[in-house]
Amino acid sequence: MSISEAQKAEVAYYFEGSCNSVDAFEDDPDIPLTDDQVTDILLEKEIEMCSGCGWWLHQADLEEVDGEVLCTDCREDEEEVAE
Ligand SMILES: [Zn+2]
Repeated sequence: MSISEAQKAEVAYYFEGSCNSVDAFEDDPDIPLTDDQVTDILLEKEIEMCSGCGWWLHQADLEEVDGEVLCTDCREDEEEVAE
């Protein structure tokens, strides 16, 4: 079964700017997708989870620091700690 662009957009919308888990999405009866499918869609839409706070954000808002993908807020927190 192929995934429509509308479903992909809905998945991206569901996660971006939220801290939803992939597991929770699996329980949504409106969009019957597997974990792997959801993960693939997020990759395609360039949405990743911040390692610091667990929120999903577009890659443009994330930056890799010491092997961890962090959002702007978490990077600022790290800088404050370092000072
Ligand atoms: Zn963060």
